[in-house]
Amino acid sequence: MSSLNNISIQFLKGVGPARAKLFENLGVRTVEDLLYLFPRRYEDRSKLTPISQLKPGDWHTISGEILAKGGRRTFFNKKHVFEAEVGDDHARVHCVWFNQPYLDNYFHVGEKVVLHGRVDMFKDRLQLIAPEYEIISKDDEHLSMGRIVPIYPLTKGMGQRYLRKLIAGALERHSKDLQDVLPSGILQRQHLKPIAESITQLHFPDSDAAQDQANSRISFEEFFFFQICVILRRMNMALKKGFAHKMPAGIENVFEKLFPFTLTLAQKKVLTEIKADMINKRPMLRLLQGDVGCGKTVVALFGCLISFLNGKQSAIMAPTEILAEQHFRTLIKSLADIGGRKPRVALLNSTLKKKDRDALYAAISKGEVDIVVGTHALIEEGLKFKSLSYVVVDEQHKFGVKQRALLSSKGQNPDVLVMTATPIPRTLCLTLYGDLDVSIIDEKPKGRGETKTYHFVGEQAEGVYKRVAEWVGKGTQAYIVYPIIEESETLDLKAATDMCVHFQKNEFKKLRVGLIHGRLPREEARQVMDKFQKHELDILVTTTVLEVGIDVPNANVMVIEHAERFGLSQLHQLRGRIGRSEKSAVCILLGDPQTEDGKKRIEALVKTTNGFKIAEQDLEIRGPGQYFGRHQHGLNELKVVNPLTQVHVLEAARKEAVEVVKEDPSLKTYPLVRDTIHKRYPEYLERVLAG
Ligand code: ADP
Ligand code: MG
Repeated sequence: MSSLNNISIQFLKGVGPARAKLFENLGVRTVEDLLYLFPRRYEDRSKLTPISQLKPGDWHTISGEILAKGGRRTFFNKKHVFEAEVGDDHARVHCVWFNQPYLDNYFHVGEKVVLHGRVDMFKDRLQLIAPEYEIISKDDEHLSMGRIVPIYPLTKGMGQRYLRKLIAGALERHSKDLQDVLPSGILQRQHLKPIAESITQLHFPDSDAAQDQANSRISFEEFFFFQICVILRRMNMALKKGFAHKMPAGIENVFEKLFPFTLTLAQKKVLTEIKADMINKRPMLRLLQGDVGCGKTVVALFGCLISFLNGKQSAIMAPTEILAEQHFRTLIKSLADIGGRKPRVALLNSTLKKKDRDALYAAISKGEVDIVVGTHALIEEGLKFKSLSYVVVDEQHKFGVKQRALLSSKGQNPDVLVMTATPIPRTLCLTLYGDLDVSIIDEKPKGRGETKTYHFVGEQAEGVYKRVAEWVGKGTQAYIVYPIIEESETLDLKAATDMCVHFQKNEFKKLRVGLIHGRLPREEARQVMDKFQKHELDILVTTTVLEVGIDVPNANVMVIEHAERFGLSQLHQLRGRIGRSEKSAVCILLGDPQTEDGKKRIEALVKTTNGFKIAEQDLEIRGPGQYFGRHQHGLNELKVVNPLTQVHVLEAARKEAVEVVKEDPSLKTYPLVRDTIHKRYPEYLERVLAG
């Protein structure tokens, strides 16, 4: 094999040991890695916006000269502000950056710059707020001006111009050594351009169309290999031997009697699917999708019952401690004597004292505990089960494939149920989750009240609080949710904390108000939650720790402050905390969306409560990379594929992958494919391809 993969980037001019270290942050070690470091976006600098044509509210890229600049501190909160005047032939614009005093040394009057950012109107004049910036110099202008310019992901201490130049140089010298790893038959059938050309166009596209085509080419390749992994993994799964559970007659009825309600048809259908899987010796690997509040958790417990009746152990892994605790309580409450014995349930908390934890570990390994509930604590190395036969992973998107596998490895191919409340649009399901069977609960329990959603602007908050006080006075409970974003975490925390105090003194003086946020010590958070659950509190002021799974049916009012700052799916999850009883519920979004996307999100939420529709909207607004999060199903491995816009590419790639595996599951006749998979997806295939 020719080996760009063996050439360290230090071999390139301009990369010394220090730079090489920086590159490691970007996951780049070899020249090949560098050529596969794709732009995160492009700027079409063949058509820059003249400054005179800037419009407030829009994003623009401009170029111009620094006419004046300077730093100062604001009078009120002493924040640092760096300001610059940038002008082109006809007009000038004011630019500001906050808290970046070093910019004063970076920019010099007279220099040519390119800026990209949002235009705003401030005190009757246009300004660019914290735009991305780049100084343009004569010698690399051909790479950075008058063309479609790549904008790369950066790491601290590395600039766009440097990277652009380096990659351009590397392409020139080494692109000819890039190897087409796809079987030639596929290249021909799918009319794919040579890899060298595609990679070059992906970095420095000649046109939008050329960039699209290159993108499809790389996506195809990437997805082809990803699909081979998925297909092989699934085949491998089918060969594994797990435990064949015995099913006592009428087990569904036994199960249903544990709850004070009748199961929905959708729930019953999933019970049947789980039952069939668990009888089988082949281990179950099933994804349970369903909107918030449709009753997934209840269904998941069915497997615990089956496992218990077979004298085996089961485990439920939840994404947060609060949620683990809630599952634990549900279990205690609903699992009565079954067959003359009550299942022994344990909560594995990361706050357990070492002594208690050791004791619990010992009990679990001796089989003295039947069902264990916990968070990540469940995958810790020291924990051993006597005979784990069923595993539930709740809220998949918070965990990775690896963690799922780790938990499974605590038993001998246990049956696995993965639950997610972030529905995946149907079009994507097979392609992305090809290695899982999928169950869907598409029906809410009967007799649920309707949830109405309204949007009010920030100024109307007073009136909203008043209504909340009235509703709560009549016996319902309410959540008031505050956003938290990383950059200003402390500031936001203060918002929730301050507002809680404010409420206690003012609007909700006569009511019992509690506060919960991520920084609260666990024990304290638990107590607050507990009180709210028991209706010893009327109003819970909270940050997004509320997001997943909390179940307090009497809480039917939710106010979400600064709703524009939340993502769509997140808003939907939050709203899912109310409307869990027969009473109708009200969700009020308070906020002043500044962007188109922000407006769209709020509109979407007001318009529908259907999680699938929301998921589709969300994908459309955000794009899949952000939608799925980095750890979703190895999607983080996919660098260029945009599954939503490239469904046809995915389908074509999947078809070819199926053919290859069908023809030769060992991949012996496809050594290049095999090697590439080993290289790109090592952990996926370790076991599958071994030997
Ligand atoms: P999910 O996990 O899908 O968000 P849960 O399983 O937590 O939903 O269920 C939400 C609430 O609905 C819980 O209080 C649960 O007890 C209740 N519930 C579940 N299934 C039914 C049903 N068939 N009828 C009435 N209530 C139900
Ligand atoms: Mg749940």
